[in-house]
Amino acid sequence: MSYLKHLLVSKGWRTAWERGMAIARQLGPTETRMARTLTAYLNLLADFDVRPTFPTPATVVTRHPRLIAYLHAQGAEIAIHGDVHVDMQALSPEEQRRHIRQAVARFRAHGLPVHGFRAPYLRWNPTLLEALREINVYDSSLAVYWDAVPTLDTFAHQRMRRVLLFYGAQTLSPWPLYPVQQQGVLRLPVSLPDDEMLVDRLGWRDSAAIAGVWHHMLTTTHRQGGLLVLQLHPERFFTCADALRQVLIAARTLRPPVWITTMQAVAAWWQARAQAVVKVQPTNGGWHITVEGLANASLLVNATLPPGHERWDDHWYHVPGPEVTLYSPRRPTIGVTGQVPQAGVEALRAAGYIVEPATGQQALVLDTPTWTPAVQAEVWHRVHTHVSPLVRIAPWPDGARCALCITGDLDAVTWWDFLSRLARG
Ligand SMILES: [Zn+2]
Repeated sequence: MSYLKHLLVSKGWRTAWERGMAIARQLGPTETRMARTLTAYLNLLADFDVRPTFPTPATVVTRHPRLIAYLHAQGAEIAIHGDVHVDMQALSPEEQRRHIRQAVARFRAHGLPVHGFRAPYLRWNPTLLEALREINVYDSSLAVYWDAVPTLDTFAHQRMRRVLLFYGAQTLSPWPLYPVQQQGVLRLPVSLPDDEMLVDRLGWRDSAAIAGVWHHMLTTTHRQGGLLVLQLHPERFFTCADALRQVLIAARTLRPPVWITTMQAVAAWWQARAQAVVKVQPTNGGWHITVEGLANASLLVNATLPPGHERWDDHWYHVPGPEVTLYSPRRPTIGVTGQVPQAGVEALRAAGYIVEPATGQQALVLDTPTWTPAVQAEVWHRVHTHVSPLVRIAPWPDGARCALCITGDLDAVTWWDFLSRLARG
């Protein structure tokens, strides 16, 4: 699909025209204007010791090597955002593969490491995931919509619906939002609404309103212990800078702390955590649990512990370090029968629970044959708040309660980058 057609299909005439005018103001004929914006973006993040991830089309890297090298040297992660900015769902599997290989080659030619990918327009399909699996990168094309926007009028509602359909956005499940393995690719879902939906679709300019939505997403993520990948495109940085600052002030104030990092760091942690070995050994009247092979691992326990342990939330204690001893006749693990769907086993493991074949000795034995949203909600409620004793590997390193990534697709640096998108397709 051409970019022009995308604008009209996903945004409608009025938004497309407004978007064109906004682009003319935000970009310029040379790199100067965007370089100033990006420097301001990095400076704001530096106040909070935060590094962003900027998904960038490989051709934009090729056209602006010095600017991209500067961002990389400042600690920003540059992820692949297509070779050129096209709808990759519209490409054949062979074209997708060629396109991805070309992007990787361009990144390598400019000395950029290749760790991650986000699809232009967040448009992906199974054959694209297959191509990503071959180059062993994480993917951040899966969009999840948070119902965090106050009441919308019908027109605004239609605009939001149109773009969510276009992105194929999913709604939140009853579980915390974690990275997820799909077709052998680790996926870091990007959370919506982003700056584009709030500013372009809804016409919001009020920092407090934008901050309110993102703050709600942050505090919910913190309560649940999941991952929040926020998106603020550099081109709308100045409109949303105050909102971003408010969110980062809140994130740095929350306790237990928020791990604010790049998507690359989250992906590396999540892969290492999935490969950690957990041992549960009987001791005198209890169980000794150790996690091996995971640096900065810690544990969560929902049984009464000797005084001095920090609370992690209303139901769990945090145990710094990779081992703990619990005194209980029951194994602090979850047993599953053969009929529990694989998705359920994976969801429990992602949350850090120790899952084993059911023997009757475990604190909880699950035998649910389905994994519908209703079952997920019921199981989460039981394992999170009711069954004791249980032990989990903490979701994030060093006892962080949740993780936050600040990301911004750097789609274009100059008018000419933008026009080359219009001309294509
Ligand atoms: Zn983009």
